Amino acid sequence: MPGIHPSPIVLGDWWRGVGGSRGGINVSILDWPLKSIFWPPSLVARQLGSVLLFKHLLGWKRFPRWLFTHSLSSLPVAAGAVGMGCIGFPAHPAWEVTSACNLRCIHCHASSSTPSKDEFTTDEAKRFIDSLREVQEFRMLVYTGGEPLMRHDIFELLNHSKSVGFTNVIATNGTLIDEEVAFRLREAGVVGAAVSLDSPRPEAHNFIRKNNNAYALALRGMDALRKAGILLQVNATAMEYNFDDFDELLTLADKYGSGIMLAYQLVPVGRGSGIRGATLSKEQNKRLLEFLARRQIGISTIVEPVAAPQYWPYLMKNKGKVGGSWLSLAKEVFHGCAAGRGFVYIKANGEVWPCPFVDIVAGNVKERPFIKIWEESEVFINLREREHTLKGGCGRCDFRSICGGCRGKAKAYYGDYLEEDPSCFLRDGDEKEVYV
Ligand code: SF4
Ligand code: SF4
Repeated sequence: MPGIHPSPIVLGDWWRGVGGSRGGINVSILDWPLKSIFWPPSLVARQLGSVLLFKHLLGWKRFPRWLFTHSLSSLPVAAGAVGMGCIGFPAHPAWEVTSACNLRCIHCHASSSTPSKDEFTTDEAKRFIDSLREVQEFRMLVYTGGEPLMRHDIFELLNHSKSVGFTNVIATNGTLIDEEVAFRLREAGVVGAAVSLDSPRPEAHNFIRKNNNAYALALRGMDALRKAGILLQVNATAMEYNFDDFDELLTLADKYGSGIMLAYQLVPVGRGSGIRGATLSKEQNKRLLEFLARRQIGISTIVEPVAAPQYWPYLMKNKGKVGGSWLSLAKEVFHGCAAGRGFVYIKANGEVWPCPFVDIVAGNVKERPFIKIWEESEVFINLREREHTLKGGCGRCDFRSICGGCRGKAKAYYGDYLEEDPSCFLRDGDEKEVYV
């Protein structure tokens, strides 16, 4: 399912988000080794710095409200974050724990339907989780799919990752979550849940999700997660079918008490390649980012675009803060495209990709230790060296260290993950015309 991952951030929600309780269960931020969240102190300082720069650039009026309501419950979700970037933040892994799904969404990057034959057994999955711990920067693990709740041993795996020190986040279509499931998730160390919601109009969401009950069930799931004290995140994917819905969708996410909203854009991979024509145009990318920046001012939910890392230089330019010292400051906390640069995506069959939208196999954990792939694969090294490896407009761009262009769009349109981002509206018109 498109729509994963949480976002960064800091301080706030003692009474609601941090400790859900029912029937003697009382979970709190203290369930995790504090080291995972607070060490070193410079990490939390960077998280605070990133949100303050974000606030400054946007003129975010509802920041105090966010601080009061969501910031503390965001801490375990942001465990390990070194700032803001696409798909949440570096550094964290996202694991497609199954390719089974109860829905058949038209844009699913994973083309999810039934479980793949080569999915991990429970024992293999636990060993894999243990291997992720070898990367010291990883403190939070995202379970995605498919629909993670389709896996029979999901609670066992969540409990295992909790026991080895990860904070857990789940990316879900929300339809299988009632109150009982939500509280079980909380007990199993789930601190954040990203629920996919593509439109405030039931008929539009249900059309995209290919199920007439998807909307009602997703909202039921969101309610249940909130009651269980899990930080709620809304994930929406912008495309032709719902482009005009984002105003109302933001209002809905804010009203539902969502701490974060990730505004994805359709990248034509997986089943999404079948609706390539529904991808946003360059002009629509610009309009969406301008709109998100405007709307952020008046809502408490933090909204971050996905597959549009131009947002960060756009915010700087818009505020006239493009001078050397501002850019140096921004480089510390805004990371733009995180693919392979702190963010990694592991497929249900063990393949390691830089991002769910960059369909390049850097290795397979069934054949090679994860840490070796992470540290030594050429794809990951190229992405980490983007100042020197990017091509075309992105290679020449002064903003490449805070943006870097969407590597998924480059791959989908040029067949080369290092090419320029075809949807960039910030550079001059010297790009190749593969995109409108
Ligand atoms: S040219 Fe590339 S790096 Fe520069 S702003 Fe556009 S997408 Fe980002
Ligand atoms: S490849 Fe695109 S979607 Fe993936 S992290 Fe980079 S900008 Fe985001």
